[in-house]
Amino acid sequence: MSPRLQYVLEEIFKHRLGMQYRVTQNISEYEGINDGIKINYSVIPRSGFHIIPVTLLKEEAVNESLPEFDMGGSFPVLFPTNSAFGFDIFSMVFWFLCRYEEYQTHDTDKHGRFLPGKFIPEPFRSLPIIDIALNAFYQEIGVQLVNKYGVYPTLDIDIAFAHKGRTPLVWLGGLLRYFLIGDWTKAKERIQVLFGKSDPYDSFDYMIDTLKGNPHNCRFFIQVSDRGLYDKSIAISNPSFSKIVTRIASQFETGIHPGYEAGQTADGIQKEKIRLEKHIGKTITRSRHHFLKVKLPETYRNLLQAGITHDYSMGYADRLGFRAGTGQSFRFFDLLKNESTELVVHPFCAMDVSLKNYLELHLNDAGKAMQELNETCRKHHTPFCFIFHNESLSNSGDWDGYRSIFEKCLN
Ligand SMILES: [Zn+2]
Repeated sequence: MSPRLQYVLEEIFKHRLGMQYRVTQNISEYEGINDGIKINYSVIPRSGFHIIPVTLLKEEAVNESLPEFDMGGSFPVLFPTNSAFGFDIFSMVFWFLCRYEEYQTHDTDKHGRFLPGKFIPEPFRSLPIIDIALNAFYQEIGVQLVNKYGVYPTLDIDIAFAHKGRTPLVWLGGLLRYFLIGDWTKAKERIQVLFGKSDPYDSFDYMIDTLKGNPHNCRFFIQVSDRGLYDKSIAISNPSFSKIVTRIASQFETGIHPGYEAGQTADGIQKEKIRLEKHIGKTITRSRHHFLKVKLPETYRNLLQAGITHDYSMGYADRLGFRAGTGQSFRFFDLLKNESTELVVHPFCAMDVSLKNYLELHLNDAGKAMQELNETCRKHHTPFCFIFHNESLSNSGDWDGYRSIFEKCLN
């Protein structure tokens, strides 16, 4: 059996359905089976549920050809074939989960992130299309689907404080910058925080209080990078930040948020992992890249090398939706090595920064978009996982009103 077919069958039957399955290439053995569900994955009609394969799962290399799609049915599909079910579901699942297009697309944004091509229409991006297709497949073959819907809030802590926790030089540099750009409100706030006013980004009491009712579904990702152009985290040696990190890690599952620079190498990721582990006294296996700066397969190989087994970076920055066509977790398949790996990818479908900065949505529209996504996930029995930051939950300045969106997502 090809590594690609084996991977898809494991994902569908073992991980999603928790079912045992058997594969045979012996035709008389196949025809002799009279119990269970039979699937005939071949071009020749036989007994059982027939799926006509395209060549994708037999191939070993990555080529430049784009998949055919069909928008004519009750949901859009890839790899249409001339069978009763109408398409090669195993290839469609594989194409999305292995992120085939990310190896073909050479267009990236200024941070080197994947930009989806325009060759397939929008519903393939905005819907959990794999979950929809698989639910239809389960119905066709008479298998009970497993409802994976749930609300999974995840929080990134990039910059714990807007003004506190800096060295005197960085603090002063920031103040001078506010003067230079004429941001008097921020300049005044920086001085007021110095004299005891609470820091606007310090929304940790609120976050912990709001999430403590269901801590098992939450994940926190904390950045502990050295300072750089895109890395502005507070030093973990800062007593206020240190106390917050300890408090979060004692109540919630906590992972690293590898920095823009450090996240690009296995050594950099490992250094930050060890830094945070020493601080919280626990082994870390979870990670989400700062800026969602992921390039396949390098980033995921680096994570594995650094001892990370769960990644939470699979989603879009510039839009909402399902980058891998699913809300459900899956294992990373390294397409260049043509093999499955132990890295479990946990996708998300929305981020606060996408709503406000990339899509520039008005608060009401942002709330509506999140509500719609939540409904979509509920309808298709897939997890509703999203990202907020301590900054957006400050509910102040540009982020005024975002706490209400967050709270609506939780209910
Ligand atoms: Zn970040």
